[in-house]
Amino acid sequence: MRGAVLHAPGDVRFEERDDPKILQPTDAIIRISATCVCGSDLWDYRGINPVNQATPMGHEYVGVVEEIGDDVTTIKPGQFVIGSFFASDNTCPICQAGYQSRCVHSEYVGAGGAQAELLRVPLADGTLVATPDTPSVDLIPSLLAASDVLGTGWYGAVAAEAGPGKTVAVVGDGAVGLLAVLAAKQLGAEQIIAMSRHEPRQKLAREFGATDIVTERGDEGVARIKDLTDGLGAHSVIEAVGTQESMMQAIRSTRPGGHVGYVGVSHGVQLPGEELFFSATHLHGGPAPVRRFLPEMIDLIWQRRIDPGKVFDLTLPLDQAAEGYAAMDERRAIKTLLQP
Ligand SMILES: [Zn+2]
Repeated sequence: MRGAVLHAPGDVRFEERDDPKILQPTDAIIRISATCVCGSDLWDYRGINPVNQATPMGHEYVGVVEEIGDDVTTIKPGQFVIGSFFASDNTCPICQAGYQSRCVHSEYVGAGGAQAELLRVPLADGTLVATPDTPSVDLIPSLLAASDVLGTGWYGAVAAEAGPGKTVAVVGDGAVGLLAVLAAKQLGAEQIIAMSRHEPRQKLAREFGATDIVTERGDEGVARIKDLTDGLGAHSVIEAVGTQESMMQAIRSTRPGGHVGYVGVSHGVQLPGEELFFSATHLHGGPAPVRRFLPEMIDLIWQRRIDPGKVFDLTLPLDQAAEGYAAMDERRAIKTLLQP
């Protein structure tokens, strides 16, 4: 098979790779129907995470089950399935509590590289969710979004306790931030403030349910959030970037007693203890347990009540993965969908 491999910062190649094989009796092999480039892939692409060896890329996927191991009982060949970037057994105490991304048996699915024609998915019964039927082609982008960015935005909104009567602010206008807006809307938030200075992203945020746009950042951005919330700060703030600036912007935009849901992968964030102490905010986040939300998200997509696939503003054949990375790196695209 062929797949995308990162050889060095900025150097993505589409090349021949070994076909994945069933390694454990709980594995499945799926044939990828669509995959995409994640904002977190850009940390590697830009060399912010060191690239020490040729690395198969991609951890977002939807596809058709091609082969299953002997112990797989609920997932069947021919089913159209969606899974998260972490495999989980969905039975251990951590999974039962809804934190499947930290399952005691969790395994990173992206290690196999989902930007490819085939992918090995460990713990198939616990990890994969089948759609009711083979989806129509126009639903595939939204189902793919559920694999990571929608699930991550959703978790951010849940962790921030977005809900009826709440004012929600979203720091970050990448795909996760935009879909956190959609999730906050679904959860019934009253006011949703998207922080973005890019016009096409502001427009999409409004389509997803944002009631206000704040273009300022840092202290000025915090001041604008206070202006919009009677000087108090938002009840719920979703942090979807992962930098020191964005995390502090999120904490400072939250009212005392409010909640920060942080889902941007943390890079060099150091929290000042005394400021955190006096902020009196709740912080909850981490790698999103996407698996917790998959059945509900798939149902909403299947009924065409949400259209998270709108975040894909560039679709390319998988063999042009390198251009998909470059377009996102240069912010010419919000998110690139890749078709084998
Ligand atoms: Zn588990």
